[in-house]
Amino acid sequence: MKQWYALADALSLMEIEAVNFGGGECPLASGFVDFCRYLRNFGIKLGLTTNGSSQSFQEIERYVDLFHEIGVSMDFAEAKLHDSFRGYKGAFEEAVTTIGQLVDYGINTELVTCLTNNNCSRSMLSHLHSLCTDLKVDYWRTTRFHPVGRGSASLDLSLTPNALEQAYSFLYELQPDGVFSTDPLFQALIAGTDEESPCQCGRASLRIGSNGAVTPGPYIHRAVGNVTEENLDDLLQHSALLQQLRKRELFGKCRICPKRHVCGGGCGSAVYAIEGHLQAPDPACWVRPGQDPDPAESGTKLTKKNHGTIHEYYLCTTYVSIRS
Ligand code: SF4
Repeated sequence: MKQWYALADALSLMEIEAVNFGGGECPLASGFVDFCRYLRNFGIKLGLTTNGSSQSFQEIERYVDLFHEIGVSMDFAEAKLHDSFRGYKGAFEEAVTTIGQLVDYGINTELVTCLTNNNCSRSMLSHLHSLCTDLKVDYWRTTRFHPVGRGSASLDLSLTPNALEQAYSFLYELQPDGVFSTDPLFQALIAGTDEESPCQCGRASLRIGSNGAVTPGPYIHRAVGNVTEENLDDLLQHSALLQQLRKRELFGKCRICPKRHVCGGGCGSAVYAIEGHLQAPDPACWVRPGQDPDPAESGTKLTKKNHGTIHEYYLCTTYVSIRS
């Protein structure tokens, strides 16, 4: 635990703006609340992504005010499907109850959906959107599935380019003014912004595992070092993988793509998860440069805005505003 407090001191010196806890049920770890309080005392914004299980939220009132936002994962709007995906009966009801509590507490609440080939049809997405509205969350946040970690055995859950285009078009059509995204494919091909919108992994964000391993983001599991042995600032400056992510070279169709300056080759994590390197276009990109109409000509010309949420700096993710 001493090492974690030393890390918090280092994060403060580096003027890190925000920390999100996720990838497991962090509230179950002993000392979690005290550690959060320590980080908050430095003025660091905190976020939490959770499955919303009743175990994690037993003592919610002890720490809910420490968080700027809390996201609860819900992958289906039907209890049976969500329970089966999460692996236990009652997961849906627990998540719904937790979301209700968070909304009542007045904290920024997100319903978080991992987009997979199993839940990206228009009708499933429409049901999830209705659920968000019924539950009165602030945002519905979607992230595409990446086949890493436990997900590496489920390649079939990855969205095809066609499925991703359909899903993103649907989210945009829901409310063009109320949707924003940090996924370069969404920005470049759906929202039509002309501003640079590169993948955030290793650039504005990184992930630190419970064993201290530092990876460029939640979906790249190759460690670039370990904070229990090395100085985090040194790691950020000297890692070859982080440098590659920050200065992505373009390969294949990206070299002639009219959106290459906006998109920068898509989501680095998605490329790395499938290819094991960065020398390829985003595997879920549906554009065929030279064959399809120039995507630069389509889409509303949106200006990217800062919405103040933690994940818009953290990973390629798409928000739909529900309450604002
Ligand atoms: S071809 Fe490459 S640069 Fe163009 S939109 Fe697709 S991933 Fe982005």
